[in-house]
Amino acid sequence: KFFSLTKMCEQIVHSFSLSFEREITLHSADKEIWINADEDQLKQVLYILLDNAVKYSEKEIHISLEETDDHVQITVRNDGEGIPYEDQAHIFDRFYRVDKARSRRTGGTGLGLSIASQIMKQHGGNITVESKPKEETVFTIQLPKK
Ligand code: ATP
Repeated sequence: KFFSLTKMCEQIVHSFSLSFEREITLHSADKEIWINADEDQLKQVLYILLDNAVKYSEKEIHISLEETDDHVQITVRNDGEGIPYEDQAHIFDRFYRVDKARSRRTGGTGLGLSIASQIMKQHGGNITVESKPKEETVFTIQLPKK
């Protein structure tokens, strides 16, 4: 299905800001970005990333939306604890959670990111993480424009 990724992001940001009373900002080019993909699945990936950003930090959350000739890219960034370097390679594995004690408090199964990664692969895209411990976490998803 062909749909506006810009509109989808605006809508998700709006509903997350309202339900969690958190400051979430969206940065995107003036030009609306359209893409041919599975809208529900892409939405699920963004829900997983935002749900994590809300759970694992108390700071601002920034989403940015970019388009190149052959890809679209969305980043979800939050300040906060970050993810230790040795864990970064494993967080996309099923049931993997970083800090067992902290994670128990926030709940969850450790499945979210493995589902997100699965979905991105199915679409010929990918998901990556870059995190500076004690500073910030940035998740990036990329999708080819078929
Ligand atoms: P759920 O299945 O409910 O999503 P979960 O959040 O533990 O549970 P994942 O979404 O797969 O599972 O995340 C795996 C782990 O990665 C988390 O337990 C957490 O330790 C770490 N993590 C994910 N996102 C962030 C983030 N934005 N900041 C810090 N740590 C994160």
